Amino acid sequence: DNNILEIKNLHVHYITEDETVRAVNGLNLSLQKGESLGLVGETGAGKTTTALSIMQLVPYPPGVITDGEIIFQGKNLIYNTDKENQQMRGNGISMIFQDPMTSLNPIMTIGEQLVEVILTHKKVTKEEAKQQAIELLKVVGVKEDRFNDYPHQFSGGMKQRVVITMALLCNPQLLIADEPTTALDVTIQAQVLDIIRELQQKYNMSMILITHDLGVVAETCDKVAIMYAGEIVETGTIEEVYTNAKHPYTRGLFESIPKLDEDNEKLIPIPGSTPNAAALPDGCFFHPRCKYKQEICEKVSPPVMGEGHCYKCHFSLFEKEQ
Ligand code: SF4
Repeated sequence: DNNILEIKNLHVHYITEDETVRAVNGLNLSLQKGESLGLVGETGAGKTTTALSIMQLVPYPPGVITDGEIIFQGKNLIYNTDKENQQMRGNGISMIFQDPMTSLNPIMTIGEQLVEVILTHKKVTKEEAKQQAIELLKVVGVKEDRFNDYPHQFSGGMKQRVVITMALLCNPQLLIADEPTTALDVTIQAQVLDIIRELQQKYNMSMILITHDLGVVAETCDKVAIMYAGEIVETGTIEEVYTNAKHPYTRGLFESIPKLDEDNEKLIPIPGSTPNAAALPDGCFFHPRCKYKQEICEKVSPPVMGEGHCYKCHFSLFEKEQ
């Protein structure tokens, strides 16, 4: 098969003396070469924990991958040694974090940092590394004369461009971008997203874009996965999910987003709030907020229905409605 990444039945818990936070609960995901997937959900849905699991960066303790497989290019990353993980993070999978300063060192110039990353992963001279870094900076719109500047001399948007450069230096096969534009001004957000999308296509990288913004996903991704309480509750192509959402939570998300050209008084927020991952309800995790729930929903976790376009619900409610 063509899958570059396949996650099967992933469970990730944060275990302390007082409680077990069940952040990811049986997550399944697959991604083909060159494909981009939007991973959407509210804060606390487990999106970042999923990303950190793929990167093998779940903070232990208290974080533990308690079950499942993460197969990247045919290899289960869970059995990687630390050294294999380091290699994988350099050449295989790169991640862009929400806050650029997570990835930048404040006391080194951006040039020094980029060259250092290249020299760690590639057998090139310092001068060659410098040229490569300058070339890639140009691609993201950072001029050569900024090479010897320090991170604090850059605006937020420019810093994120440098971080994107850093993430791409070693030609990753998979790019994970975790809310890469959330910390930026709205106008800059669009520019940075454009850069990410262009580079993803140019280098035929696979990408997971993590966001709470369905609009961003529609513009940037091929597929979407909606996450709730550590599970994927619906997944499919953008068209399938955006025109024919089947899970009540997905429906609720679409009904609750403001649209530019419509009467926003009709917005219907989803009642209730994201469940506490240390005390998840029995049955369907969404049942306390679901207006369609039946008795079975309170007791039995729903199966995954459908093929390709899949959703996790006991009922094909919306087929009946139509
Ligand atoms: Fe709602 Fe039941 Fe479907 Fe869960 S399984 S989303 S509670 S109808």
